Amino acid sequence: MSESETLVTKNTRSFNLRVFGCQMNVYDGELISASFMKRGWEPSSDPATADVVLFHTCSVREQAEERVHGLLGELRRRKKANHNVVIGVIGCMADREGRELFDREPHVDIVCGSRHFPELPDMVERVLGGEERICELGESPNPVDEPERNLAGFPGGYQAHVAVMRGCDLNCTYCIVPSVRGRVESRPAAEIVQEVARLVEHGVTEVHLLGQTIDSYGRDLPKEDRPDLALLLDELESIERLKRIRLVTLHPSYVDQRLADAMARSSKFMRLLPVPMQSGSDEVLKNMKRGYNSALYRQRIGLLRDAMPDLELVSDWIVGFPGESDQDFDDTLEALEEHGFLQSYVFQYSPRPGTVAFEIEDDVPKKVKANRNHRMLDLQRQIARQRTPQLVGQVDSIMLESRPERSPGKWLGRTRNGHYALIDEQADLAAGREIPVNLVAYNGRELVAELRGDLEEVANYQRQEFHV
Ligand code: SF4
Repeated sequence: MSESETLVTKNTRSFNLRVFGCQMNVYDGELISASFMKRGWEPSSDPATADVVLFHTCSVREQAEERVHGLLGELRRRKKANHNVVIGVIGCMADREGRELFDREPHVDIVCGSRHFPELPDMVERVLGGEERICELGESPNPVDEPERNLAGFPGGYQAHVAVMRGCDLNCTYCIVPSVRGRVESRPAAEIVQEVARLVEHGVTEVHLLGQTIDSYGRDLPKEDRPDLALLLDELESIERLKRIRLVTLHPSYVDQRLADAMARSSKFMRLLPVPMQSGSDEVLKNMKRGYNSALYRQRIGLLRDAMPDLELVSDWIVGFPGESDQDFDDTLEALEEHGFLQSYVFQYSPRPGTVAFEIEDDVPKKVKANRNHRMLDLQRQIARQRTPQLVGQVDSIMLESRPERSPGKWLGRTRNGHYALIDEQADLAAGREIPVNLVAYNGRELVAELRGDLEEVANYQRQEFHV
């Protein structure tokens, strides 16, 4: 019996889903898997044998798209040998390339935009029913998020992602997101709280709340019942076994006193906050249309740090944006130093078709971009090596994450404000547990922690907390 005949007769059909890009894509991948599993499909890790092969894609950089084109190329021969295999491209690349994707990849059956993925199982049935080249883009009549999430696609573990909103209302000139993911759509607060509570019942202790500009959450919802991020943090406080809340990602222009106060009073909010600055130069920020300058950024960060002096910050940076002079770059180095970020993600500017900046000459040479990239990372490392040892001597709690191979007999965890700490392995410790510690030393890379209180005390504390 040939491969093409087996699909028709097999009891269970399988799908293989590769997810690229941001945490929102990871979350969407879990929703997509759940939608197929609800229909009796089996997840498969092997694109060479799965009946359906799907790529959930990212368009932020050209490289990310070319990687998917490479993988699609590898499927060309399989499709030739078995026409029944269904191949689909989902998400930002589908939104950006649209129908043109069929010209470049004629063996692709489905091009599905970011707001249409709940319809994917139906699209696959349509292809199996003989329809060709299905392309669904733009706005969709159906919301992406169901009132009650199907957790079948949740991979388990102590960490989970939860989208609180989708899309973005801003228009940074280098960014493709608004054109591919659309305008902001916030989810009702009750749905988010319920989803987090259900995930906690499945063993989750740390939740990452996702939104492109998460601090603008709720602004698109009806005035009379308009929630915001401050309210959401307060509501989540009641979920006892939830230990940590991480927020991904803030925009400085939406930061206000109300939000800073809510973060400060939350016993669960992890004080490691991504507030991308992108550049320290007012000229470059203006050309990026980021909607703030360095003075406003400073004022908003000051507000957050006044409320939480131990707050640590994370930033994204773009080096080599068109027109970025040596002085502009020096301003960026100064901003990195001034705000003392604990972590930075540095990207060399990459012109993206469909963005406003794509029309501006990409005039900063590759070599200069690479050099600025290195200098940013060097400075960032220096800053982190100065900040972390300052916690030695403090009492804190760490969320256990993993047992690193490089440190046998140890657990690696993170303090409440995101610094890494190592602790000796002992009974009753597990990933996702938050334990009280003394931070006793710094080993040049991370903190060294010791259990605060004896093991029995901690075990009782955990039994109480985690019903184990
Ligand atoms: S805030 Fe700017 S960079 Fe972020 S998603 Fe929106 S448009 Fe893109």
